[in-house]
Amino acid sequence: MNNNAFFNIGYGLYVLTTNANKDNGCIINTFMQVTANPQQVVLAVNKDNLTCSELLSSGKFCVSAIDESADFELFKWFGFRSGRTCHKFEGFDNVKRADNGVLYITKNTNAYFAGTVTETKDLGTHILFIADVTEAEVLSDKKTATYTYYQENIKPAPEKKKTGWVCKICGYVFDGEELPEDFICPLCKHPASDFERL
Ligand code: FE
Repeated sequence: MNNNAFFNIGYGLYVLTTNANKDNGCIINTFMQVTANPQQVVLAVNKDNLTCSELLSSGKFCVSAIDESADFELFKWFGFRSGRTCHKFEGFDNVKRADNGVLYITKNTNAYFAGTVTETKDLGTHILFIADVTEAEVLSDKKTATYTYYQENIKPAPEKKKTGWVCKICGYVFDGEELPEDFICPLCKHPASDFERL
Protein backbone atom coordinates (compact mmCIF):
# COMPACT_ATOMS: atom_id res chain seq x y z
CA MET A 1 0.00 0.00 0.00
CA ASN A 2 1.33 3.44 -0.91
CA ASN A 3 0.50 5.82 1.92
CA ASN A 4 1.11 8.79 -0.38
CA ALA A 5 -2.20 7.94 -2.07
CA PHE A 6 -3.95 9.32 0.99
CA PHE A 7 -2.42 12.74 0.36
CA ASN A 8 -4.44 12.84 -2.87
CA ILE A 9 -7.78 12.81 -1.05
CA GLY A 10 -9.24 16.33 -1.22
CA TYR A 11 -10.06 18.04 2.06
CA GLY A 12 -11.14 21.42 3.32
CA LEU A 13 -9.89 22.92 6.56
CA TYR A 14 -12.19 23.94 9.38
CA VAL A 15 -12.24 25.31 12.89
CA LEU A 16 -14.35 23.01 15.05
CA THR A 17 -15.62 24.72 18.20
CA THR A 18 -17.47 23.51 21.27
CA ASN A 19 -18.61 24.93 24.57
CA ALA A 20 -18.52 22.28 27.29
CA ASN A 21 -16.93 24.00 30.30
CA LYS A 22 -15.45 26.87 28.32
CA ASP A 23 -15.22 27.91 24.68
CA ASN A 24 -12.64 25.80 22.90
CA GLY A 25 -11.80 24.66 19.40
CA CYS A 26 -9.36 22.91 17.10
CA ILE A 27 -8.58 22.55 13.40
CA ILE A 28 -10.01 19.58 11.52
CA ASN A 29 -9.99 18.48 7.89
CA THR A 30 -12.49 15.68 8.33
CA PHE A 31 -15.84 17.39 7.85
CA MET A 32 -18.39 16.67 5.15
CA GLN A 33 -22.05 16.89 4.34
CA VAL A 34 -23.55 13.42 3.86
CA THR A 35 -27.27 14.07 3.34
CA ALA A 36 -29.32 17.12 2.34
CA ASN A 37 -32.74 16.07 3.63
CA PRO A 38 -32.29 16.42 6.51
CA GLN A 39 -28.98 18.29 6.49
CA GLN A 40 -26.56 15.86 8.10
CA VAL A 41 -22.79 16.10 8.38
CA VAL A 42 -20.01 13.88 9.69
CA LEU A 43 -16.76 14.90 11.32
CA ALA A 44 -13.91 13.01 12.93
CA VAL A 45 -11.77 14.34 15.76
CA ASN A 46 -8.52 13.00 17.20
CA LYS A 47 -9.03 11.87 20.80
CA ASP A 48 -5.84 13.75 21.75
CA ASN A 49 -7.71 17.00 21.13
CA LEU A 50 -9.54 18.35 24.16
CA THR A 51 -12.32 19.40 21.77
CA CYS A 52 -13.06 15.71 21.17
CA SER A 53 -14.04 14.85 24.75
CA GLU A 54 -15.80 18.20 25.09
CA LEU A 55 -17.91 17.50 22.03
CA LEU A 56 -18.74 14.03 23.37
CA SER A 57 -20.08 15.61 26.55
CA SER A 58 -21.77 18.72 25.12
CA GLY A 59 -23.10 17.36 21.81
CA LYS A 60 -23.12 20.90 20.35
CA PHE A 61 -20.59 22.40 17.98
CA CYS A 62 -19.90 24.89 15.25
CA VAL A 63 -17.75 24.28 12.20
CA SER A 64 -16.27 27.38 10.53
CA ALA A 65 -14.94 26.87 7.01
CA ILE A 66 -11.50 28.49 6.68
CA ASP A 67 -11.11 30.46 3.44
CA GLU A 68 -8.07 31.32 1.34
CA SER A 69 -7.58 34.70 3.09
CA ALA A 70 -6.40 32.90 6.26
CA ASP A 71 -2.73 33.01 7.21
CA PHE A 72 -0.59 30.57 9.22
CA GLU A 73 -1.40 32.42 12.47
CA LEU A 74 -4.96 31.08 12.46
CA PHE A 75 -3.66 27.51 12.13
CA LYS A 76 -1.13 28.03 14.91
CA TRP A 77 -3.79 29.64 17.12
CA PHE A 78 -6.32 26.82 16.90
CA GLY A 79 -4.27 23.90 15.60
CA PHE A 80 -0.88 23.91 17.26
CA ARG A 81 -1.85 24.68 20.88
CA SER A 82 -3.98 22.74 23.32
CA GLY A 83 -7.04 23.99 25.14
CA ARG A 84 -5.64 22.12 28.16
CA THR A 85 -2.89 24.72 28.53
CA CYS A 86 -4.45 27.87 27.07
CA HIS A 87 -7.79 29.54 26.51
CA LYS A 88 -8.07 29.70 22.74
CA PHE A 89 -10.58 32.53 22.72
CA GLU A 90 -8.57 34.78 25.01
CA GLY A 91 -7.37 37.59 22.75
CA PHE A 92 -9.37 36.29 19.80
CA ASP A 93 -12.15 38.70 18.92
CA ASN A 94 -13.37 37.53 15.52
CA VAL A 95 -16.24 35.44 16.81
CA LYS A 96 -20.01 35.34 17.18
CA ARG A 97 -22.18 32.93 19.11
CA ALA A 98 -24.58 30.70 17.18
CA ASP A 99 -28.07 29.86 18.39
CA ASN A 100 -26.76 26.62 19.93
CA GLY A 101 -24.50 28.62 22.25
CA VAL A 102 -21.21 27.81 20.50
CA LEU A 103 -18.81 30.38 19.08
CA TYR A 104 -17.96 30.43 15.39
CA ILE A 105 -15.14 32.25 13.61
CA THR A 106 -16.12 35.34 11.61
CA LYS A 107 -12.79 36.30 10.00
CA ASN A 108 -10.92 34.32 7.30
CA THR A 109 -13.91 31.99 7.08
CA ASN A 110 -16.53 31.68 4.34
CA ALA A 111 -19.33 29.79 6.10
CA TYR A 112 -20.31 28.33 9.42
CA PHE A 113 -22.49 25.41 10.48
CA ALA A 114 -23.98 24.93 13.94
CA GLY A 115 -24.95 21.38 14.79
CA THR A 116 -26.14 18.81 17.26
CA VAL A 117 -24.51 15.39 17.50
CA THR A 118 -26.90 12.49 16.91
CA GLU A 119 -24.53 9.50 16.85
CA THR A 120 -20.88 8.71 17.58
CA LYS A 121 -18.55 5.85 16.72
CA ASP A 122 -15.21 5.09 18.34
CA LEU A 123 -12.63 4.64 15.56
CA GLY A 124 -9.61 4.01 17.78
CA THR A 125 -7.52 7.16 17.52
CA HIS A 126 -10.55 9.27 16.54
CA ILE A 127 -14.23 9.64 17.29
CA LEU A 128 -16.61 9.88 14.35
CA PHE A 129 -19.53 12.23 14.96
CA ILE A 130 -22.76 12.22 12.95
CA ALA A 131 -24.74 15.41 13.40
CA ASP A 132 -27.77 17.43 12.34
CA VAL A 133 -27.08 20.97 11.13
CA THR A 134 -29.36 23.42 12.92
CA GLU A 135 -27.99 26.66 11.47
CA ALA A 136 -25.78 27.53 8.49
CA GLU A 137 -24.75 30.85 6.96
CA VAL A 138 -22.36 32.13 4.30
CA LEU A 139 -19.70 34.50 5.69
CA SER A 140 -17.65 35.49 2.64
CA ASP A 141 -17.37 34.84 -1.09
CA LYS A 142 -13.78 33.62 -0.87
CA LYS A 143 -12.86 30.04 -1.68
CA THR A 144 -12.54 27.40 1.00
CA ALA A 145 -8.91 26.74 1.93
CA THR A 146 -8.26 23.15 0.89
CA TYR A 147 -5.51 21.08 2.46
CA THR A 148 -3.61 21.36 -0.84
CA TYR A 149 -3.96 25.15 -0.77
CA TYR A 150 -2.66 25.16 2.81
CA GLN A 151 0.35 23.06 1.80
CA GLU A 152 1.17 25.27 -1.19
CA ASN A 153 0.26 28.77 0.01
CA ILE A 154 -0.21 29.04 3.77
CA LYS A 155 2.32 26.76 5.46
CA PRO A 156 5.69 28.56 5.78
CA ALA A 157 8.53 27.24 3.65
CA PRO A 158 11.08 25.30 5.76
CA GLU A 159 14.31 27.06 6.66
CA LYS A 160 17.19 26.07 4.43
CA LYS A 161 19.42 23.63 6.27
CA LYS A 162 21.81 20.91 5.10
CA THR A 163 20.47 18.18 7.37
CA GLY A 164 17.29 17.61 9.27
CA TRP A 165 13.72 16.51 8.93
CA VAL A 166 10.70 18.66 8.11
CA CYS A 167 7.12 18.02 9.23
CA LYS A 168 4.96 17.70 6.10
CA ILE A 169 1.96 18.97 8.05
CA CYS A 170 3.17 22.20 9.65
CA GLY A 171 6.71 22.82 8.40
CA TYR A 172 8.48 22.32 11.74
CA VAL A 173 12.15 21.44 11.23
CA PHE A 174 13.86 18.80 13.36
CA ASP A 175 17.55 19.63 13.50
CA GLY A 176 19.45 16.34 13.42
CA GLU A 177 20.59 13.47 11.25
CA GLU A 178 18.36 10.74 12.74
CA LEU A 179 14.71 11.35 13.57
CA PRO A 180 13.63 9.16 16.53
CA GLU A 181 10.88 6.70 15.51
CA ASP A 182 8.64 7.84 18.34
CA PHE A 183 9.18 11.53 17.60
CA ILE A 184 6.05 13.68 17.84
CA CYS A 185 5.99 17.09 16.15
CA PRO A 186 6.00 19.68 18.95
CA LEU A 187 3.84 22.04 16.87
CA CYS A 188 1.13 19.89 15.29
CA LYS A 189 1.56 16.60 17.23
CA HIS A 190 1.87 14.48 14.08
CA PRO A 191 4.16 11.41 14.26
CA ALA A 192 7.60 10.80 12.76
CA SER A 193 5.97 9.16 9.72
CA ASP A 194 4.74 12.61 8.65
CA PHE A 195 8.33 13.94 8.45
CA GLU A 196 10.56 13.91 5.39
CA ARG A 197 14.30 14.49 5.07
CA LEU A 198 15.33 18.02 4.03
FE1 FE B 1 4.08 19.38 12.55
